[in-house]
Amino acid sequence: MLPFIRSAIRQLNAYKPHPGGTAGSPVSAPILLDRIDSNESPYDLPEELKQKLVSLCHKHIEANRYPDGSHLALKEAIAQYVNESAGLTERGVTPEQITLGNGSDELIRSVLVATCLQGEGSILVADPTFSMYAIIAETLGVPVVKVGRSPDSFEMDLEAATAAIQTPTHPPIRVVFVVHPNSPTGNALTAAEVEWLRQLPEEILVVIDEAYFEFSQQTLVPELLQRSNWLILRTFSKAFRLAAYRVGYAVGDENAIAALEKVRLPYNLPSVTQVAAQLAIAHRHQLLATIPQTLSEREHLYEALSQYPAFQVSKSAANFIFIRFNLPPDRANQAAEVLCQQLRAKGTVIRHTCGGLRITIGTPEENQRTQERLAGLLKDSDEFLASLACGAPH
Ligand SMILES: *Cc1c(COP(=O)(O)O)cnc(C)c1O
Repeated sequence: MLPFIRSAIRQLNAYKPHPGGTAGSPVSAPILLDRIDSNESPYDLPEELKQKLVSLCHKHIEANRYPDGSHLALKEAIAQYVNESAGLTERGVTPEQITLGNGSDELIRSVLVATCLQGEGSILVADPTFSMYAIIAETLGVPVVKVGRSPDSFEMDLEAATAAIQTPTHPPIRVVFVVHPNSPTGNALTAAEVEWLRQLPEEILVVIDEAYFEFSQQTLVPELLQRSNWLILRTFSKAFRLAAYRVGYAVGDENAIAALEKVRLPYNLPSVTQVAAQLAIAHRHQLLATIPQTLSEREHLYEALSQYPAFQVSKSAANFIFIRFNLPPDRANQAAEVLCQQLRAKGTVIRHTCGGLRITIGTPEENQRTQERLAGLLKDSDEFLASLACGAPH
C-alpha cells in the first residue's frame, strides 16, 4: 500500500456499491437480472415525467453555469412536503430547517464532520443496522461504539446503550444513529426506544434516518420541532424512485442545519438533480401511488417465506424483508451466502448482510420469480443444508 495513505483507510473494508445493470453477473448469457438487493423502487419514472425532466433540463440549465448553491427552491418544496407528510398544517418545518445532500450518505458524512472530527466525538449504533454510519465514521477516524439488538424483535439493547453512554469514553459519544424503520431488519422504533432517545442529554445528537418513511408512514418530524438535538434524514432514493439522481435531506434545528451547511461543499447538488427532485415533489402523488402495491406484495412475500421452517422471517415496516436461517449464527451466515449465490445464478440478486438475507420488494413479476426460484432451491431443505458442507465458499 502507498505510504501516504492513512492506516485507517488501508485497513478499511469499503462499502460495495451496486454494480448497476448486469455488470458482475456470474451467468454467461446476458440475462436481465431481478435486482432486488438495494431497496430501490422497481419502477423507473413514468415516461411522461422522464420527457418532462429532459425538457425542463434543456430549458432551464445553462451547462456553463454552476448549479444553484442555495437550493432554496428545492428546500421550500421539501419543507412543504415534510409538513404535509407529518400532518403539520401550521408552524411546521421551515426551509431554514432543511439541508440537502448528494444522497443522504453525504449528509451522514457532514454530520460526522460537524460533530465528531478531530477527536471530539464517537458515535453509537445498534447492530445490525445500516452499515454506512460505521463505514463513513471509520474513513474519518471517528470511533464507533456498537451495541446489540434483541435477536427476535431486533429492538435495541437499551441497557447496553445506556451503559455505553454512561461509560466515559475518549472521545465521548456525540451522535446516536437510528433507522426508523431499521435496515436490514425492517422494524420501526418502538415506544420504549423513542422514550430512550428522548431522555438522551442535549450534548448528544440523535440522528433518526427515515429513509423508508413513505413505506412505514411513521415519522418523528412533529416531535423534532421541540428538540434541538434531533435530526431526521430522508432520501429520494427509495419511494421517490430517484436513486440515480442522488438527493437526500436533513430536517432539524436551525442552528444544527446551519452547521451542516457550513461543512457542505458549495455545489454538492448538480442542477439536473435539483430539477429532478423538484419534479418528483411536484408529482409526488403519482410517484408514491405504487406504494400500496409494494405493501401488499410485501405481505404476500412474507406469507410465502414464512412457509419455510428453515427461515426466521422478520416483520417489516419498509419495502424489504429480512430473513435468517434457523441455524447457529456461523452456519446461518454460511447458508445465507450459498443461497444468495444460487439465487443470483438463477437471475435474482438479493443482499447477504448481517448474517441474513435482505430481499427488496420488487414488481409482482419479480416477487413471483423470487418465490419460484426459492421454491426450486429449497425443494428439499434438508438436502440444501446438507449441501452446504461441501458447496460453501471460503
Ligand atoms: C437507502 C438508505 C439511505 C439512502 O441513501 P442515499 O445516499 O440517499 O441514496 C439512507 N439511509 C438508509 C438507512 C438507507 O437504507
